Amino acid sequence: MIAKRFEPFWKTVPLEQMSQSEWESICDGCGKCCLQKLQDEDTDEIFYTNLSCHQLSTSTSQCKVYEARQQKVPGCITLTPDKLDEFQWLPDTCSYRVLHETKDLPDWHPLIVGSNKEMFRQGLTVKDYAVNEHSVDEEDWDTHIIKWVDGHPEPYDLN
Ligand code: SF4
Repeated sequence: MIAKRFEPFWKTVPLEQMSQSEWESICDGCGKCCLQKLQDEDTDEIFYTNLSCHQLSTSTSQCKVYEARQQKVPGCITLTPDKLDEFQWLPDTCSYRVLHETKDLPDWHPLIVGSNKEMFRQGLTVKDYAVNEHSVDEEDWDTHIIKWVDGHPEPYDLN
């Protein structure tokens, strides 16, 4: 008898049909969606900054109040399978977006590596560059706009 090849759940279960724990485990913990964003009033284009939500631990790239984040931070967005079509605002390395668009996860993903060690090694979390939003006057946030290049931030010149 030939044994059936094992396929991990993210290759066989569509995002919309994942259990809550499977869904949560797709998040790679990069922390990028916890960076503040600015939106162009004329074009609606969204720009990421390197300024993190004040509830994000910049040393671990994890939310400090994850279970209560909606109460602590009004406006914090919860990603759910019924919002798959809205994922375009997420960074292009976000594992939800990548899985939705390519049907597979990158080889550095914690579900594949077994930890977030490889993500930290490759600088794919915000740990090395996130700055607490409260340390910068809101009128100066546009000087912190970044663009993503291969998952890493580079300064973005608005002019
Ligand atoms: S950008 Fe995506 S993968 Fe990264 S922390 Fe946010 S939801 Fe998770």
